[in-house]
Amino acid sequence: MTDIGPGTGRRGVGELSGGQNRRIKEPRTATEMPPSLGACRPTVPTSDPNTGLFIKTYGCQMNVYDSTRMADALAPHGFAPVAAADAAGVIILNTCHIREKAAEKVYSELGRLRALKARRAQAGQRLTIGVAGCVAQAEGEDMLARAPVVDFVVGPQAYHRLPHLVARARRGARLVETAFPTEDKFDHLPLPQAKATVSRGPTAFLTVQEGCDKFCTFCVVPYTRGAETSRPMAQLMAEAHRLVDAGVREITLLGQNVNAWHGAGPSGAPSTLGRLLFELAKIDGLDRLRYTTSHPRDMHAELVAAHRDLDTLMPYLHLPVQAGSDRILKAMNRQHTVHDYLTLVETLRQARPDIALSGDFIVGFPGENEADFEATLALVRRVGYAQAYSFKYSPRPGTPAATAAAHVPEEVKTERLARLQALLADQARAFNGAMVGRTVPVLLDRAGKRPGQLAGRSPYLQAVHLQAPAHRRGEIVPVVIDAAHANSLSGHMAPAPAGAGQIDGDAA
Ligand code: SAM
Ligand code: SF4
Repeated sequence: MTDIGPGTGRRGVGELSGGQNRRIKEPRTATEMPPSLGACRPTVPTSDPNTGLFIKTYGCQMNVYDSTRMADALAPHGFAPVAAADAAGVIILNTCHIREKAAEKVYSELGRLRALKARRAQAGQRLTIGVAGCVAQAEGEDMLARAPVVDFVVGPQAYHRLPHLVARARRGARLVETAFPTEDKFDHLPLPQAKATVSRGPTAFLTVQEGCDKFCTFCVVPYTRGAETSRPMAQLMAEAHRLVDAGVREITLLGQNVNAWHGAGPSGAPSTLGRLLFELAKIDGLDRLRYTTSHPRDMHAELVAAHRDLDTLMPYLHLPVQAGSDRILKAMNRQHTVHDYLTLVETLRQARPDIALSGDFIVGFPGENEADFEATLALVRRVGYAQAYSFKYSPRPGTPAATAAAHVPEEVKTERLARLQALLADQARAFNGAMVGRTVPVLLDRAGKRPGQLAGRSPYLQAVHLQAPAHRRGEIVPVVIDAAHANSLSGHMAPAPAGAGQIDGDAA
């Protein structure tokens, strides 16, 4: 979970603007107060001075990116991030629906916020609470009915409507905006201000693609995020330039299915993620590129070539396979076999021999027997992952697998997950252990946990901690790795090799 902390948005109260013509569903409930009449350009009521914004982010990096764009959308209207919910006038929960109990977690959090809102009300102050993200999309109006504390519910495709929603909510309306709008939110969201970008550090996310057309039988994404859409290359290049001009040195391209990106290229014809990476790599000052999350079916030749040819494309790839049994992959509708996946891994390793692989695994998918699970362990042994994520299958309402026969008992799922995670942990330890004694370039992107420490990432996305003066934050420095821990490395700064740009393990 990530929170949008204090930023540098302009304080004060501004007029809200943009897109007020769209219909917003406003359920008639007992708690609803009518929005003010003739509010064509609603403004934040000046009697309501608390413009502190607190966004609590659940789930994946795409939600982290969305939260920054929400903050950017509200910044021109006077809302500035604050460090804690207690200090906020507007709280947004940016939710994730990928696994079970997601909605319950959100309702528990809303229960806690109810007390805060009641205290504010006693003091004569308004606290506006919104729910965004995939739980908002899935629950819609039910959420307003079940949680009277909520003022507005907004789906992921309508964040450009936030200023309007917040203004209306602060006037007393209760609102739901979960329809997939005809207009593209990216055409309406303001670009991040340089000051806000600087405050977020030297790494940034950039969503290039949203939604998914693959329809894996376990997954809610095609329903909550909708059909696959790709942003045009020119729009992405402009956003990337803006980030780099503000000091960003590493950009991670995001998408639910990022390598399916097929946005319009310079001629207007659909392009490929590989081509986009080649173009982004030309930006002066952009030292590192990454992308996530990829589907094995969409690893096209130009993308493999980008791994081969681009020093700025980091040698790390998150390539989920989910299972190691063809029977289960078919039932999951993954559209690839174990052989396809292993062949792809081989091709990638030929193109970039030091590439570190990560993956996602689901254990206990309906119908998975012991032999299927053993096949997953065999695939993991064969590939050798630098790190990976693994989950017990969790039935998601509305997905085909949720109503499949032969659900695997919970205790079997638990036991299989423990065995898989033990194997993945051994592989991660071995991968990290092999770094000890090597010198790797680390982009120092944040303060460390201990005084005098900075932390950053190796090319292989490992977290690295070291003693370093605070002013070195934002630099890529050579670090000698002294020790490997379960999920991170520690080391000390080494002098850069005289006259060389190349450091062991990376060309950054
Ligand atoms: N698009 C990526 C792909 O095709 O692999 C995955 C994106 S999905 C949002 C992130 C991960 O959540 C999946 O790779 C899968 O391992 C996990 N996941 C999704 N639905 C799940 C479910 N119903 N139960 C358990 N894990 C699930
Ligand atoms: Fe979900 Fe990924 Fe499958 Fe799309 S490709 S349905 S996002 S798991």
